[in-house]
Amino acid sequence: MTDDTHSTTLRTPIVAVLGHVDHGKTSLLDKIRGSAVSEGEAGAITQHIGATDIPLATISTMAGELVQPEDFDLPGLLFIDTPGHHSFSTLRARGGALADIAVLVVDVNDGFQPQTEEAIDILRRTGTPFVVAANKIDTTAGWNPQEGLPIQETYEEQSERARSMLDENLYALIGELSDAGFSADLYWRVQDFQKNIGVVPVSAMTGEGVPDLLTVLMGLSQRFMKEEMAIDVAGPGVGTVLEVKEERGFGATVDAVMYDGVIRTDDQVVIGGQDEPIVTDIRALLQPQPLAEIRTEKQFEKVDSVAAAAGVKIAAPDLADAMAGAPVRVVRDRDIDDVITEVTAELEEIDVDTAEDGVVIKADTLGSLEAMASALKEAEIPIMRAEVGDIAPRDVAIAETANQDEHKAILGFNVDILANASDELEAADVKLFTDDVIYQLIEEYDTFVEERKRAQQ
Ligand code: GDP
Repeated sequence: MTDDTHSTTLRTPIVAVLGHVDHGKTSLLDKIRGSAVSEGEAGAITQHIGATDIPLATISTMAGELVQPEDFDLPGLLFIDTPGHHSFSTLRARGGALADIAVLVVDVNDGFQPQTEEAIDILRRTGTPFVVAANKIDTTAGWNPQEGLPIQETYEEQSERARSMLDENLYALIGELSDAGFSADLYWRVQDFQKNIGVVPVSAMTGEGVPDLLTVLMGLSQRFMKEEMAIDVAGPGVGTVLEVKEERGFGATVDAVMYDGVIRTDDQVVIGGQDEPIVTDIRALLQPQPLAEIRTEKQFEKVDSVAAAAGVKIAAPDLADAMAGAPVRVVRDRDIDDVITEVTAELEEIDVDTAEDGVVIKADTLGSLEAMASALKEAEIPIMRAEVGDIAPRDVAIAETANQDEHKAILGFNVDILANASDELEAADVKLFTDDVIYQLIEEYDTFVEERKRAQQ
């Protein structure tokens, strides 16, 4: 911004946690929050809508000598509360990922699994830097929790002890990362986290390695992301819709993560909608009540403004058609048409190659629609229409118009079927596939095509 009444500040980096089901994403997030609370004083963490803010002071208390507050000017880390790559791919911002960094959780005993691969594909495509949390080290034979992590020793001591204490699964994991095209190593041997993926052994059960993980995330952000964290503190807020939710007393509300500027209760906002950008006036900005004050009824408290990076619930008229993954932009002092143009352009960036003949795909968010489209492209399955939202009668009607019988299909990722669409489906010759794992969805469709071909022979 050239306007010199505006000043820049460094915002908190946004961190997402992803990985295969059951590898410990939820447990790790819980442990990070729990350890932070038990280590820190009051204000050790701040609960946002959809995210948890862990300030530098708390990280520093947890990490001991490793994180000296004076060495950092980033304010802390903002963890997105919903783990998994569905939510991660929702977090898109201007063609990339909204999350600045990711933690890829891998169960050391299990190694790479299909959703690990899927997560890596998404991280690669969005160019998101990440670290690997090699989880469940408490269950590995070579691990001696008494000795702790060899983090404060010399390189030679570390390597020596690491060899004797670390389970070979960790080395296997490093091998798998290398097969996936990433140069990776145990984090204390990594010099440049931009070139090499750091692998941090952790236990979401015992909490071991959690301070190390936070240290690595903090160091990585401070060294390589400082410029990207510079925001215009007073500028019009910019964010992404995480979820659209009905809230008693407020109607449809939008949970958003704001990554730039500030959003205020008297602001007009433009939010990406199903058919066209929604222009509306904020009625209230809501944050969770501090834990101690939560009573049964009143869960939220109204706030006047929220500065990035933060999660916030926006209550405003006409939000029912807002789309998860769509942009949120405050208009303040700007030309409304320019803002609408920007939102439209951001939505159009989502490029799905559609063909004259192909299947219909539906997904819960723009990001997952994009991920799904790219996976289908790789599998050479043509797409006729791609849309965010639950499966509606219109989708059935469109799928029916496909030329080839095998294309008379709807592939739905993380979506429901609207009641009236079920009736249409029964009447129509359209196959429906739904799943919440992309590769499984494609496998199911492929099996159907194979069987169909065999039946015709
Ligand atoms: P998610 O599906 O990736 O979110 O995985 P969860 O966090 O739900 O964990 C799956 C299971 O693994 C649960 O039964 C956890 O208690 C267990 N688990 C997670 N992390 C650890 C760990 O570090 N050590 C051990 N022993 N179990 C863990």
